[in-house]
Amino acid sequence: MADGLQEYRNLIGGELRAAEGGRTLDSVDPATGEVWARIPRSGAKDADAAVAAARAAFPRWSGMPAAGRAHYLRKVAGVFAEHARELAELETRDNGRTISETAKRDLPGMTYLWTNAAAECAAAVEGRTVDFGPGSLGMTRREPYGVTLGIIPWNSPISTFSAKAAFALAAGNTVIIKPAEQATVSSLRLAELLKDVLPAGTLNVVSGLGEEAGDPLVRHRGVNKISLTGSVETAKIITRASADALKPLALELGGKSPNIVFADADLDKAAVGVTTQAIFTANAGQICYGGSRVLIQRPVYDEMLHRMRAVAATVRLGDPMSAETTMGPIVSREQFDRVTSYLEIGQKEGAELVFGGRSGAEAVGDERLAGGYWVEPTLFATGDNGLRICQEEIFGPVAVVLPFDTEDEAVAIANDSSYGLAAGVWTRDLGTAQRMFRRLETGTVWVNTFRKVVFPLEGVKDSGYGHDSVLAYTREKACLIES
Ligand code: NAD
Repeated sequence: MADGLQEYRNLIGGELRAAEGGRTLDSVDPATGEVWARIPRSGAKDADAAVAAARAAFPRWSGMPAAGRAHYLRKVAGVFAEHARELAELETRDNGRTISETAKRDLPGMTYLWTNAAAECAAAVEGRTVDFGPGSLGMTRREPYGVTLGIIPWNSPISTFSAKAAFALAAGNTVIIKPAEQATVSSLRLAELLKDVLPAGTLNVVSGLGEEAGDPLVRHRGVNKISLTGSVETAKIITRASADALKPLALELGGKSPNIVFADADLDKAAVGVTTQAIFTANAGQICYGGSRVLIQRPVYDEMLHRMRAVAATVRLGDPMSAETTMGPIVSREQFDRVTSYLEIGQKEGAELVFGGRSGAEAVGDERLAGGYWVEPTLFATGDNGLRICQEEIFGPVAVVLPFDTEDEAVAIANDSSYGLAAGVWTRDLGTAQRMFRRLETGTVWVNTFRKVVFPLEGVKDSGYGHDSVLAYTREKACLIES
């Protein structure tokens, strides 16, 4: 480009291609507010080309023995091992997630994820047999869906890309990934790196806006299954748009996760877990399962607020590329406006501001970063779980604390939510832990920890349904043979 900005391209049918008509979108660095790269602004023709390429690649890929597919996926794992730092830096630049998170947590995990997907290729082809007595044998085989579409959000692009691509590929599907327009660069660079690693058309990446690039893919008759990680609003649009073709969907959506601290908890551990991991420094609160509603049992309420304030005071807001930074910016101007609107809403609703509340240049205190999208760790307190700040997903470093007296009351407050993604419970009592595990209406319950994903995340209620795993990308076909 004449202005020296790097321009990235789609991966379609094994080739790096500009969008039809050469249209592009600007990618903005959220730490400075400056444009730093360009990405394709794809449309229906690009979607058609990607589907055609994925369909053409399907017979060979799905017909390959599982060990053959595993071989390719291990090669992808090798690409991650080699390019982890580069991809981490691109992701940090693109969405503001700190380099400590992307380089130390997210990217190293990808080598494991792809290796694991390779190991699971065999399970994808294992069927069942059922003996119905002499002369009658039932059996099943697992089949891939065909072409799967992974639509991903901006908050952790490479890991969501990988979860949607690796397991679908392991199961024998060919794949199209539609990254989020706010943070696409790491996905397009990954596509470049994988161009000659996977057979042409097996994996395709189409960048652009949801309505322009995503919608034609969602409606396309050549796409057989869709997995979305995104907002409830988008999930409803996609559900309607794909309804004519009755496409199977997996919807991994938002949350308003309760993080419940009982009086018998290890308060040192709980204060750090609740404040640092669950709300603030974890991608500046821009994580779907962020524990943004903190419920504290009354005998330790004041003590916990005191400790949370102390932990929040250690947060270092600033340049996400610096190893010392523990919290980066909000991803985009639009999200910044949304998050800061809740700072006002909380005050207007009469919640008490416990700490934080500043945004913009004032929050970061570094002139070079004055154009970035900064919000400092903020905590509100209220006794009313009906407030908007308690019910709506803010998706930023803004949490709310609510007191409770009894276990029943904690369960009632926690379950009084349209969401049901995850919950945290902090207690030393095994009885409390196992009862809460049963009673909380969420897909995951963490006890004395938070945000450690050991099983696929699957929500209930408005947090969606379905997940990404090898078996979830297959369907079981049955046969009964009688002699
Ligand atoms: P979003 O719903 O705005 O966008 C997600 C993706 O959908 C983007 O790629 C976007 O371009 C695409 N899209 C939008 N409209 C579309 C349309 N009409 N057709 C096809 N595609 C369309 O979400 P976001 O703002 O990028 O991400 C934040 C949301 O994602 C939050 O609600 C968060 O909780 C959720 N999330 C959930 C999980 C999970 O695992 N449950 C993980 C991360 C984020």
